Amino acid sequence: MQTMHVPVFKGQGRLEYEERPVPRLDQSTDVIVQVEACGICGTDLNILAVPPAHQARPNIIIGHEGVGQVVEVGEDVSDFKPGDRVVIAPRLTCGECVYCRRGLDNQCINYQTIGTTIDGAFAPYLRAPQQALYKIDAAVSRDDAALFEPLSCVVGSVARAPMQPGDAVAIIGAGPMGLLFAETYRIMGAGPVIVIDIAANRLEFARQLGVDVTLNAAETDPAGAVLDITNIGADIVVDAVGNQLPAALKLVRRGGHVLLFGLRPHDQQTINQYQITRYDINLHGAFVGLKPFVQTVQLLEGGRLQPSRLITHHVPLTELPRGVELMRSGQSMKVIVETRG
Ligand SMILES: [Zn+2]
Ligand SMILES: [Zn+2]
Repeated sequence: MQTMHVPVFKGQGRLEYEERPVPRLDQSTDVIVQVEACGICGTDLNILAVPPAHQARPNIIIGHEGVGQVVEVGEDVSDFKPGDRVVIAPRLTCGECVYCRRGLDNQCINYQTIGTTIDGAFAPYLRAPQQALYKIDAAVSRDDAALFEPLSCVVGSVARAPMQPGDAVAIIGAGPMGLLFAETYRIMGAGPVIVIDIAANRLEFARQLGVDVTLNAAETDPAGAVLDITNIGADIVVDAVGNQLPAALKLVRRGGHVLLFGLRPHDQQTINQYQITRYDINLHGAFVGLKPFVQTVQLLEGGRLQPSRLITHHVPLTELPRGVELMRSGQSMKVIVETRG
């Protein structure tokens, strides 16, 4: 039996390397993918936190931001053939629950996720049902394609808040997701894109990326600065952190939109509800989006944006724990794990 040397999640923040069999076809709709690379996500950090801030089943291989090549397909797979370049949409929905039947598949109550409930892409090979895979042109660089999944979450989320060309957008959080929002809004034709954080190195990175305005909330009052720039406040505010609704309400104009994207399950915020009603503020919870995958592929294939510009480090699969540390310390922006042996 062919084996692969892979990091396995053992619970309580532990990763241990083990020899695992190379996955083989199981269901007739399965596809075997040779993984080229897989990004480390905030979700992976949450899985590996103690106590965990995101659930994953112990003894699985984590990783869900993979890109690779099809090597084998089950007999009922019609859309993929060996050699196809593919990216992964990791949430597998049941298609039958009350939410799936309402077209709200991101709220499926019987979902599985590649990299949290079934084996993921921090491995040289992955078995995935065809529903989880999307073809992407081989001309898209490996590293751009590796950001397909986080970019798809952004593409799915921006759809929630209507945007006019020229709208002022303020984004709280200059991590990889905040900066993907900044890039996406820029190419959508936003007016000023303003990124707010308290980490000077992240704001410097944002400036080098070409973000119009960066504000350090530890040094200046972002609400005052946004008011100076926009006169009335931002048309759209994105919380890419997960506990910034109170701050977002100070940045948004009357009648504007607040997109709540970051996930911090244990935090509680105090807000002034009166302000939301009195000033017609539109709040949008945005969880991964409704099937944004085809548009995300088209965005990458069209070369409209190069999310690989967010990548600061590459590590081999044997050094996943070092990659996780790099992400956790905030010294890095995006870290990509090279999975090919
Ligand atoms: Zn992710
Ligand atoms: Zn369902």
